[in-house]
Amino acid sequence: MNTDIIDVRKTYDYLRKCQTHLVQSSEIATACVCQNLFKLDYPFGATRSDKDYLVANTVHDIMSICMSGPILENWHSGLENYEKVTKKIVMESSEIVNTIIKDTLDIARRENRFVEDTFELQVNDIYNGLIMGMTRRLMKKHERPSRVLTEVTITNIKDHHEGRIDAILEYSNGYGLLDWKSYDLSNTISGREKWQLIANTLLANFRYRRNEDDWTGHNFSCIIHNSGVYFPKTETTRKEVERIKANRKFAHMVLCGERVRVQRPKFCPVCDKGLEGSKECLFYQRDARLAYEGKLPAQYEKMTKQFFAKRYAILKERAETHLHKHVVYSLICKHGEEEALRRLEKIGILCRGFSFDFDIDEKVIFSRADDNIPLEPRRIVRIIGMEEGKSILSCINEQASVMEVRNNKITLSFRSKIAVRRAKRQLFHLPIILLRDELNLTRSMLRPIHQFHKLAADVLIPAELLV
Ligand code: SF4
Repeated sequence: MNTDIIDVRKTYDYLRKCQTHLVQSSEIATACVCQNLFKLDYPFGATRSDKDYLVANTVHDIMSICMSGPILENWHSGLENYEKVTKKIVMESSEIVNTIIKDTLDIARRENRFVEDTFELQVNDIYNGLIMGMTRRLMKKHERPSRVLTEVTITNIKDHHEGRIDAILEYSNGYGLLDWKSYDLSNTISGREKWQLIANTLLANFRYRRNEDDWTGHNFSCIIHNSGVYFPKTETTRKEVERIKANRKFAHMVLCGERVRVQRPKFCPVCDKGLEGSKECLFYQRDARLAYEGKLPAQYEKMTKQFFAKRYAILKERAETHLHKHVVYSLICKHGEEEALRRLEKIGILCRGFSFDFDIDEKVIFSRADDNIPLEPRRIVRIIGMEEGKSILSCINEQASVMEVRNNKITLSFRSKIAVRRAKRQLFHLPIILLRDELNLTRSMLRPIHQFHKLAADVLIPAELLV
Protein backbone atom coordinates (compact mmCIF):
# COMPACT_ATOMS: atom_id res chain seq x y z
CA MET A 1 0.00 0.00 0.00
CA ASN A 2 1.13 3.54 -0.73
CA THR A 3 3.14 5.03 2.19
CA ASP A 4 1.01 8.22 2.22
CA ILE A 5 -2.11 6.15 2.86
CA ILE A 6 -0.37 4.09 5.54
CA ASP A 7 0.75 7.31 7.24
CA VAL A 8 -2.83 8.68 7.42
CA ARG A 9 -4.21 5.35 8.64
CA LYS A 10 -1.53 5.13 11.35
CA THR A 11 -2.41 8.64 12.50
CA TYR A 12 -6.08 7.61 12.78
CA ASP A 13 -5.16 4.44 14.69
CA TYR A 14 -2.94 6.36 17.07
CA LEU A 15 -5.43 9.18 17.72
CA ARG A 16 -8.32 6.75 18.20
CA LYS A 17 -6.50 5.53 21.31
CA CYS A 18 -5.96 9.09 22.58
CA GLN A 19 -8.49 11.52 24.00
CA THR A 20 -9.62 13.83 21.22
CA HIS A 21 -11.92 16.00 23.33
CA LEU A 22 -12.54 19.68 22.68
CA VAL A 23 -14.09 22.04 25.21
CA GLN A 24 -16.60 24.59 23.90
CA SER A 25 -16.36 28.25 25.00
CA SER A 26 -19.84 28.03 26.56
CA GLU A 27 -18.70 25.01 28.61
CA ILE A 28 -15.59 26.86 29.79
CA ALA A 29 -17.84 29.71 30.91
CA THR A 30 -19.99 27.25 32.88
CA ALA A 31 -16.92 25.71 34.54
CA CYS A 32 -15.78 29.22 35.49
CA VAL A 33 -19.13 29.88 37.19
CA CYS A 34 -18.97 26.59 39.11
CA GLN A 35 -17.02 23.45 38.26
CA ASN A 36 -19.77 21.37 39.84
CA LEU A 37 -22.23 22.91 37.42
CA PHE A 38 -20.04 21.79 34.49
CA LYS A 39 -20.02 18.23 35.87
CA LEU A 40 -23.81 18.21 35.99
CA ASP A 41 -23.75 18.50 32.19
CA TYR A 42 -20.79 16.13 31.72
CA PRO A 43 -20.76 13.35 32.71
CA PHE A 44 -24.12 13.38 34.59
CA GLY A 45 -26.20 14.69 31.69
CA ALA A 46 -28.42 16.83 33.91
CA THR A 47 -29.36 19.55 31.43
CA ARG A 48 -30.38 22.60 33.35
CA SER A 49 -33.16 23.84 31.21
CA ASP A 50 -35.88 22.75 28.82
CA LYS A 51 -36.25 26.26 27.49
CA ASP A 52 -37.04 26.69 23.86
CA TYR A 53 -34.62 29.21 22.39
CA LEU A 54 -36.72 29.92 19.30
CA VAL A 55 -36.73 33.70 19.80
CA ALA A 56 -33.00 33.92 20.63
CA ASN A 57 -32.03 31.66 17.72
CA THR A 58 -34.16 33.64 15.29
CA VAL A 59 -32.54 36.90 16.41
CA HIS A 60 -29.09 35.30 15.94
CA ASP A 61 -30.07 34.24 12.42
CA ILE A 62 -31.29 37.74 11.57
CA MET A 63 -28.15 39.37 12.94
CA SER A 64 -25.96 36.93 11.04
CA ILE A 65 -27.45 38.06 7.73
CA CYS A 66 -28.00 41.76 8.48
CA MET A 67 -24.48 42.40 9.79
CA SER A 68 -22.84 42.35 6.38
CA GLY A 69 -25.94 43.92 4.76
CA PRO A 70 -27.89 46.90 6.14
CA ILE A 71 -25.78 47.26 9.31
CA LEU A 72 -22.42 47.45 7.57
CA GLU A 73 -23.84 49.60 4.76
CA ASN A 74 -25.14 52.18 7.26
CA TRP A 75 -22.14 52.17 9.60
CA HIS A 76 -21.14 55.73 10.56
CA SER A 77 -18.54 56.20 13.25
CA GLY A 78 -18.78 59.04 15.76
CA LEU A 79 -22.48 59.16 15.07
CA GLU A 80 -24.64 61.71 16.88
CA ASN A 81 -28.05 61.04 15.38
CA TYR A 82 -28.10 57.36 16.20
CA GLU A 83 -31.91 57.15 16.35
CA LYS A 84 -32.22 58.14 12.70
CA VAL A 85 -29.64 55.53 11.63
CA THR A 86 -31.33 52.88 13.80
CA LYS A 87 -34.60 53.55 12.00
CA LYS A 88 -32.88 53.36 8.60
CA ILE A 89 -31.19 50.03 9.39
CA VAL A 90 -34.39 48.56 10.81
CA MET A 91 -36.32 49.67 7.73
CA GLU A 92 -33.75 48.30 5.29
CA SER A 93 -33.62 45.00 7.21
CA SER A 94 -37.36 44.40 7.10
CA GLU A 95 -37.24 42.03 4.11
CA ILE A 96 -34.55 39.89 5.81
CA VAL A 97 -36.34 39.96 9.18
CA ASN A 98 -39.72 38.99 7.73
CA THR A 99 -38.28 36.17 5.58
CA ILE A 100 -36.38 34.67 8.52
CA ILE A 101 -39.42 34.91 10.82
CA LYS A 102 -41.55 33.21 8.16
CA ASP A 103 -38.98 30.42 7.60
CA THR A 104 -38.64 29.84 11.36
CA LEU A 105 -42.42 29.65 11.82
CA ASP A 106 -42.72 27.20 8.90
CA ILE A 107 -40.13 24.89 10.48
CA ALA A 108 -41.67 25.23 13.97
CA ARG A 109 -45.10 24.27 12.60
CA ARG A 110 -43.64 21.32 10.69
CA GLU A 111 -41.98 20.13 13.90
CA ASN A 112 -45.10 20.74 15.97
CA ARG A 113 -43.31 23.12 18.30
CA PHE A 114 -45.11 25.53 20.55
CA VAL A 115 -44.80 29.13 19.38
CA GLU A 116 -45.86 32.02 21.59
CA ASP A 117 -48.40 34.47 20.12
CA THR A 118 -45.93 37.28 20.74
CA PHE A 119 -43.05 35.54 18.91
CA GLU A 120 -42.89 37.99 16.01
CA LEU A 121 -43.21 40.98 18.31
CA GLN A 122 -40.45 39.71 20.60
CA VAL A 123 -38.06 39.07 17.69
CA ASN A 124 -38.64 42.54 16.25
CA ASP A 125 -38.26 44.20 19.67
CA ILE A 126 -34.98 42.46 20.41
CA TYR A 127 -33.60 43.13 16.94
CA ASN A 128 -34.47 46.84 17.23
CA GLY A 129 -32.84 46.92 20.71
CA LEU A 130 -29.63 45.35 19.40
CA ILE A 131 -29.46 47.80 16.50
CA MET A 132 -30.03 50.70 18.89
CA GLY A 133 -27.20 49.41 21.11
CA MET A 134 -24.91 49.16 18.10
CA THR A 135 -25.60 52.60 16.66
CA ARG A 136 -25.54 54.31 20.06
CA ARG A 137 -22.37 52.78 21.48
CA LEU A 138 -20.48 50.52 19.07
CA MET A 139 -20.59 52.71 15.95
CA LYS A 140 -19.84 55.77 18.05
CA LYS A 141 -16.68 54.20 19.38
CA HIS A 142 -15.41 52.15 16.45
CA GLU A 143 -14.94 52.71 12.76
CA ARG A 144 -16.64 50.82 9.99
CA PRO A 145 -14.88 47.48 9.55
CA SER A 146 -13.63 46.38 6.14
CA ARG A 147 -15.39 43.00 6.41
CA VAL A 148 -17.79 41.21 8.77
CA LEU A 149 -17.99 37.46 9.32
CA THR A 150 -20.80 35.85 11.30
CA GLU A 151 -21.33 32.48 13.05
CA VAL A 152 -17.68 31.49 12.75
CA THR A 153 -16.70 28.14 14.31
CA ILE A 154 -13.01 28.13 15.30
CA THR A 155 -11.14 25.03 16.47
CA ASN A 156 -7.86 25.25 18.33
CA ILE A 157 -6.75 21.62 18.68
CA LYS A 158 -3.52 22.37 20.55
CA ASP A 159 -5.42 24.01 23.42
CA HIS A 160 -8.45 21.62 23.20
CA HIS A 161 -10.79 24.52 22.53
CA GLU A 162 -13.64 25.19 20.10
CA GLY A 163 -16.31 27.86 19.88
CA ARG A 164 -18.75 29.63 17.61
CA ILE A 165 -18.36 33.39 17.44
CA ASP A 166 -21.42 35.50 16.67
CA ALA A 167 -19.54 38.10 14.61
CA ILE A 168 -16.02 39.21 13.84
CA LEU A 169 -15.33 42.69 12.48
CA GLU A 170 -12.15 42.84 10.42
CA TYR A 171 -9.96 45.96 10.27
CA SER A 172 -6.68 46.56 8.49
CA ASN A 173 -4.90 46.44 11.86
CA GLY A 174 -6.84 43.65 13.60
CA TYR A 175 -10.29 42.50 14.63
CA GLY A 176 -13.26 43.28 16.89
CA LEU A 177 -15.41 40.50 18.35
CA LEU A 178 -19.16 40.74 18.96
CA ASP A 179 -21.49 38.56 20.99
CA TRP A 180 -25.29 39.10 20.91
CA LYS A 181 -27.53 38.53 23.90
CA SER A 182 -31.24 38.61 23.34
CA TYR A 183 -32.01 39.70 26.91
CA ASP A 184 -31.43 42.91 28.82
CA LEU A 185 -28.09 43.12 30.63
CA SER A 186 -28.40 46.72 31.71
CA ASN A 187 -28.33 46.00 35.43
CA THR A 188 -25.68 43.36 35.61
CA ILE A 189 -23.35 41.40 33.42
CA SER A 190 -22.94 37.90 34.80
CA GLY A 191 -19.68 35.98 34.97
CA ARG A 192 -20.87 33.41 32.45
CA GLU A 193 -21.40 35.98 29.70
CA LYS A 194 -18.09 37.66 30.39
CA TRP A 195 -16.15 34.38 30.43
CA GLN A 196 -17.73 33.14 27.22
CA LEU A 197 -16.77 36.39 25.53
CA ILE A 198 -13.16 36.18 26.68
CA ALA A 199 -12.89 32.47 25.82
CA ASN A 200 -14.06 33.31 22.30
CA THR A 201 -11.52 36.13 22.14
CA LEU A 202 -8.76 33.58 22.75
CA LEU A 203 -10.08 31.69 19.72
CA ALA A 204 -10.09 34.84 17.63
CA ASN A 205 -6.46 35.52 18.63
CA PHE A 206 -5.74 32.03 17.40
CA ARG A 207 -7.52 32.68 14.09
CA TYR A 208 -5.66 35.93 13.39
CA ARG A 209 -2.26 35.23 14.95
CA ARG A 210 -2.18 31.41 15.25
CA ASN A 211 -1.51 31.88 18.95
CA GLU A 212 -4.22 32.46 21.56
CA ASP A 213 -1.81 34.53 23.69
CA ASP A 214 -0.92 36.95 20.91
CA TRP A 215 -3.12 39.99 21.48
CA THR A 216 -1.58 42.19 18.78
CA GLY A 217 -4.61 41.78 16.47
CA HIS A 218 -7.22 42.36 19.18
CA ASN A 219 -8.95 45.74 18.95
CA PHE A 220 -11.97 45.09 21.16
CA SER A 221 -14.54 42.50 22.28
CA CYS A 222 -18.05 43.35 23.39
CA ILE A 223 -21.48 42.01 24.23
CA ILE A 224 -24.36 43.69 22.45
CA HIS A 225 -27.61 43.36 24.34
CA ASN A 226 -31.13 44.65 24.28
CA SER A 227 -30.27 47.99 25.82
CA GLY A 228 -26.64 48.67 25.07
CA VAL A 229 -23.12 47.35 24.71
CA TYR A 230 -20.76 45.96 27.34
CA PHE A 231 -17.02 46.41 26.73
CA PRO A 232 -14.91 44.59 29.31
CA LYS A 233 -11.89 46.57 30.43
CA THR A 234 -8.56 45.38 29.04
CA GLU A 235 -7.36 44.62 32.60
CA THR A 236 -10.50 42.51 33.24
CA THR A 237 -9.93 40.54 30.05
CA ARG A 238 -6.26 39.86 30.78
CA LYS A 239 -6.99 39.04 34.43
CA GLU A 240 -9.64 36.45 33.54
CA VAL A 241 -7.54 34.64 30.93
CA GLU A 242 -5.69 32.51 33.51
CA ARG A 243 -8.97 31.49 35.12
CA ILE A 244 -10.38 30.55 31.72
CA LYS A 245 -7.34 28.43 30.93
CA ALA A 246 -7.48 26.68 34.33
CA ASN A 247 -11.17 25.89 33.89
CA ARG A 248 -10.68 24.78 30.30
CA LYS A 249 -8.09 22.33 31.59
CA PHE A 250 -10.48 21.17 34.33
CA ALA A 251 -13.31 20.64 31.80
CA HIS A 252 -10.99 18.77 29.45
CA MET A 253 -9.86 16.45 32.25
CA VAL A 254 -13.47 15.75 33.27
CA LEU A 255 -14.36 14.87 29.67
CA CYS A 256 -11.31 12.59 29.50
CA GLY A 257 -12.59 10.73 32.57
CA GLU A 258 -9.73 11.83 34.82
CA ARG A 259 -10.30 12.33 38.52
CA VAL A 260 -10.31 16.03 39.36
CA ARG A 261 -11.26 17.79 42.54
CA VAL A 262 -14.18 20.11 42.09
CA GLN A 263 -13.85 23.60 43.48
CA ARG A 264 -17.20 24.96 44.47
CA PRO A 265 -17.67 28.69 44.12
CA LYS A 266 -17.48 30.70 47.33
CA PHE A 267 -20.84 32.15 46.45
CA CYS A 268 -23.14 29.59 44.85
CA PRO A 269 -24.87 31.52 42.06
CA VAL A 270 -27.49 28.84 41.46
CA CYS A 271 -28.41 27.84 45.02
CA ASP A 272 -28.49 31.41 46.19
CA LYS A 273 -30.80 32.46 43.42
CA GLY A 274 -32.89 29.30 43.71
CA LEU A 275 -32.64 28.48 40.01
CA GLU A 276 -33.26 25.13 38.31
CA GLY A 277 -29.76 23.62 38.59
CA SER A 278 -29.62 23.33 42.36
CA LYS A 279 -31.94 20.34 42.85
CA GLU A 280 -29.85 18.24 40.44
CA CYS A 281 -26.71 19.31 42.25
CA LEU A 282 -28.21 18.34 45.62
CA PHE A 283 -29.27 14.97 44.19
CA TYR A 284 -25.72 14.03 43.14
CA GLN A 285 -24.21 15.50 46.31
CA ARG A 286 -26.53 13.26 48.36
CA ASP A 287 -25.67 10.28 46.16
CA ALA A 288 -21.95 10.85 46.74
CA ARG A 289 -22.44 11.28 50.49
CA LEU A 290 -24.47 8.06 50.84
CA ALA A 291 -21.88 6.16 48.77
CA TYR A 292 -19.09 7.53 50.99
CA GLU A 293 -20.97 6.48 54.13
CA GLY A 294 -21.61 3.02 52.66
CA LYS A 295 -25.39 3.45 52.91
CA LEU A 296 -26.35 2.84 49.30
CA PRO A 297 -28.44 -0.31 48.68
CA ALA A 298 -26.35 -2.91 46.82
CA GLN A 299 -28.66 -3.07 43.80
CA TYR A 300 -28.70 0.71 43.42
CA GLU A 301 -24.94 0.90 43.76
CA LYS A 302 -24.53 -1.71 41.03
CA MET A 303 -26.89 0.23 38.76
CA THR A 304 -25.08 3.52 39.30
CA LYS A 305 -21.79 1.87 38.35
CA GLN A 306 -23.40 0.72 35.11
CA PHE A 307 -24.78 4.20 34.52
CA PHE A 308 -21.33 5.69 34.90
CA ALA A 309 -19.74 3.13 32.58
CA LYS A 310 -22.35 4.05 29.96
CA ARG A 311 -21.83 7.77 30.53
CA TYR A 312 -18.09 7.52 29.94
CA ALA A 313 -18.68 5.39 26.83
CA ILE A 314 -20.89 8.22 25.51
CA LEU A 315 -18.20 10.78 26.33
CA LYS A 316 -15.73 8.68 24.38
CA GLU A 317 -18.07 8.91 21.40
CA ARG A 318 -18.15 12.67 21.89
CA ALA A 319 -14.34 12.70 21.59
CA GLU A 320 -14.58 10.68 18.38
CA THR A 321 -16.74 13.34 16.76
CA HIS A 322 -13.58 15.50 16.77
CA LEU A 323 -11.28 12.80 15.43
CA HIS A 324 -11.05 14.03 11.81
CA LYS A 325 -10.03 17.52 12.97
CA HIS A 326 -7.34 16.06 15.21
CA VAL A 327 -5.98 14.00 12.31
CA VAL A 328 -5.85 17.12 10.10
CA TYR A 329 -3.99 19.04 12.82
CA SER A 330 -1.58 16.21 13.54
CA LEU A 331 -0.68 15.70 9.87
CA ILE A 332 -0.21 19.44 9.31
CA CYS A 333 2.19 19.59 12.29
CA LYS A 334 4.11 16.69 10.78
CA HIS A 335 4.20 17.55 7.07
CA GLY A 336 3.03 21.14 6.63
CA GLU A 337 -0.41 22.16 5.34
CA GLU A 338 -0.15 21.45 1.61
CA GLU A 339 1.40 18.00 1.99
CA ALA A 340 -1.06 17.04 4.78
CA LEU A 341 -4.04 18.06 2.66
CA ARG A 342 -2.65 16.11 -0.31
CA ARG A 343 -2.36 12.94 1.79
CA LEU A 344 -5.84 13.38 3.31
CA GLU A 345 -7.30 13.92 -0.15
CA LYS A 346 -5.69 10.73 -1.37
CA ILE A 347 -7.50 8.67 1.29
CA GLY A 348 -10.82 10.49 0.82
CA ILE A 349 -10.97 12.32 4.18
CA LEU A 350 -11.25 15.62 2.39
CA CYS A 351 -12.02 16.72 -1.15
CA ARG A 352 -11.02 19.94 -2.89
CA GLY A 353 -11.69 21.77 -6.13
CA PHE A 354 -15.44 22.35 -5.75
CA SER A 355 -17.32 25.32 -7.05
CA PHE A 356 -20.81 26.47 -6.15
CA ASP A 357 -23.45 25.72 -8.81
CA PHE A 358 -26.83 26.72 -7.34
CA ASP A 359 -29.10 26.30 -4.28
CA ILE A 360 -32.72 25.38 -3.64
CA ASP A 361 -34.00 26.00 -0.09
CA GLU A 362 -31.62 24.12 2.26
CA LYS A 363 -29.93 22.23 -0.58
CA VAL A 364 -26.72 23.36 -2.27
CA ILE A 365 -25.19 21.80 -5.38
CA PHE A 366 -21.43 21.89 -5.93
CA SER A 367 -19.47 20.49 -8.84
CA ARG A 368 -15.86 19.81 -9.67
CA ALA A 369 -13.80 18.88 -12.72
CA ASP A 370 -13.71 15.09 -12.22
CA ASP A 371 -16.35 12.62 -11.02
CA ASN A 372 -14.22 10.97 -8.36
CA ILE A 373 -16.02 12.23 -5.21
CA PRO A 374 -15.33 9.85 -2.27
CA LEU A 375 -18.37 10.80 -0.15
CA GLU A 376 -21.54 8.82 0.42
CA PRO A 377 -25.10 10.02 1.14
CA ARG A 378 -25.84 10.81 4.82
CA ARG A 379 -22.17 11.62 5.55
CA ILE A 380 -21.66 14.76 7.63
CA VAL A 381 -19.17 17.21 6.16
CA ARG A 382 -17.64 20.54 7.11
CA ILE A 383 -17.56 22.95 4.19
CA ILE A 384 -14.47 25.08 4.66
CA GLY A 385 -13.72 28.23 2.68
CA MET A 386 -9.93 28.46 2.58
CA GLU A 387 -8.87 31.98 3.60
CA GLU A 388 -5.36 33.13 2.88
CA GLY A 389 -3.06 33.12 5.89
CA LYS A 390 -5.50 31.28 8.20
CA SER A 391 -5.06 27.77 9.52
CA ILE A 392 -7.64 25.41 8.00
CA LEU A 393 -9.58 24.83 11.25
CA SER A 394 -10.05 28.54 11.86
CA CYS A 395 -11.30 29.38 8.36
CA ILE A 396 -14.93 30.23 7.78
CA ASN A 397 -17.07 27.05 7.62
CA GLU A 398 -20.52 25.47 7.89
CA GLN A 399 -21.72 21.93 8.56
CA ALA A 400 -24.00 19.97 6.19
CA SER A 401 -24.91 16.42 5.26
CA VAL A 402 -24.43 14.73 1.89
CA MET A 403 -27.70 14.03 0.07
CA GLU A 404 -26.56 12.80 -3.28
CA VAL A 405 -23.38 12.27 -5.29
CA ARG A 406 -23.84 11.97 -9.03
CA ASN A 407 -21.04 12.19 -11.61
CA ASN A 408 -19.12 15.37 -10.83
CA LYS A 409 -21.87 16.91 -8.68
CA ILE A 410 -22.61 16.69 -4.97
CA THR A 411 -25.82 17.85 -3.25
CA LEU A 412 -25.49 18.97 0.38
CA SER A 413 -28.26 19.66 2.85
CA PHE A 414 -27.54 22.60 5.19
CA ARG A 415 -29.13 23.12 8.61
CA SER A 416 -31.47 25.83 7.32
CA LYS A 417 -32.12 28.22 4.47
CA ILE A 418 -30.49 30.94 6.58
CA ALA A 419 -27.28 28.90 6.85
CA VAL A 420 -27.26 28.67 3.04
CA ARG A 421 -27.88 32.41 2.68
CA ARG A 422 -25.04 33.17 5.12
CA ALA A 423 -22.66 30.73 3.39
CA LYS A 424 -23.44 32.30 0.01
CA ARG A 425 -22.36 35.68 1.38
CA GLN A 426 -19.17 34.69 3.11
CA LEU A 427 -18.01 31.24 2.05
CA PHE A 428 -18.88 30.02 -1.43
CA HIS A 429 -16.61 32.48 -3.28
CA LEU A 430 -13.54 30.99 -1.50
CA PRO A 431 -11.68 27.79 -2.53
CA ILE A 432 -13.90 25.08 -1.03
CA ILE A 433 -12.77 22.01 0.93
CA LEU A 434 -15.18 19.33 2.13
CA LEU A 435 -13.84 17.65 5.27
CA ARG A 436 -15.48 14.60 6.82
CA ASP A 437 -17.14 15.49 10.13
CA GLU A 438 -19.52 13.99 12.71
CA LEU A 439 -22.62 15.10 14.61
CA ASN A 440 -22.30 15.57 18.34
CA LEU A 441 -25.33 13.99 20.05
CA THR A 442 -23.84 13.70 23.54
CA ARG A 443 -26.42 15.75 25.41
CA SER A 444 -29.41 13.88 24.06
CA MET A 445 -27.69 10.55 24.85
CA LEU A 446 -26.67 11.46 28.41
CA ARG A 447 -30.01 12.87 29.42
CA PRO A 448 -32.05 9.62 29.60
CA ILE A 449 -29.33 8.08 31.79
CA HIS A 450 -29.67 10.94 34.25
CA GLN A 451 -33.43 10.41 34.28
CA PHE A 452 -33.04 6.63 34.89
CA HIS A 453 -30.53 7.38 37.64
CA LYS A 454 -33.04 9.57 39.46
CA LEU A 455 -35.83 7.07 38.93
CA ALA A 456 -33.67 4.27 40.35
CA ALA A 457 -32.92 6.42 43.41
CA ASP A 458 -36.64 7.06 43.98
CA VAL A 459 -37.43 3.35 43.84
CA LEU A 460 -34.39 1.77 45.51
CA ILE A 461 -33.17 4.18 48.19
CA PRO A 462 -35.17 3.97 51.44
CA ALA A 463 -37.27 7.07 52.09
CA GLU A 464 -35.51 7.89 55.39
CA LEU A 465 -32.20 8.34 53.49
CA LEU A 466 -33.75 10.62 50.87
CA VAL A 467 -33.57 13.72 53.01
S1 SF4 B 1 -26.05 24.41 43.09
FE1 SF4 B 1 -24.27 25.72 43.52
S2 SF4 B 1 -22.59 24.26 43.97
FE2 SF4 B 1 -24.24 23.12 43.01
S3 SF4 B 1 -23.75 23.10 40.86
FE3 SF4 B 1 -25.10 24.80 41.18
S4 SF4 B 1 -23.76 26.52 41.51
FE4 SF4 B 1 -22.54 24.73 41.78
